[in-house]
Amino acid sequence: MSDTNDTVFGKIIRGELPSEKVYEDDDVLAFRDLHPAAPTHILVIPKKHIVDLFDAGEEDEALLGKLMLAARKVAIQEGLEEDGFRLVINNGAGVGQTVFHIHVHVLGGRSFSWPPG
Ligand code: AMP
Repeated sequence: MSDTNDTVFGKIIRGELPSEKVYEDDDVLAFRDLHPAAPTHILVIPKKHIVDLFDAGEEDEALLGKLMLAARKVAIQEGLEEDGFRLVINNGAGVGQTVFHIHVHVLGGRSFSWPPG
């Protein structure tokens, strides 16, 4: 893993690129996806640069839990309690990961099919 974090999300964390933030704490940031795939589409990311789940270690156990709880907070903020929401992590270029800083997509506000495409 690179410490420079030249990804677009690294730039957002450092304030070098704008984002529409919806949640932030010491470890986690959540902001609206630039190209929303649903009425609610928010990305929850750790401030620490972790490329993907293969890059995460035992030391990241609490941080990964924080991502889940931040996703929960954001979903409640967005009024998704009744209808639910979907969390997606694209882990690897082969399944659609385009930004190599781990992120949880929080998607809601429409129906979703299963299995995912
Ligand atoms: P993934 O394909 O799973 O790596 O998801 C990357 C997501 O980042 C995509 O849904 C993009 O629309 C989103 N994205 C890329 N650049 C930005 C940006 N500057 N601000 C917000 N979202 C972005």
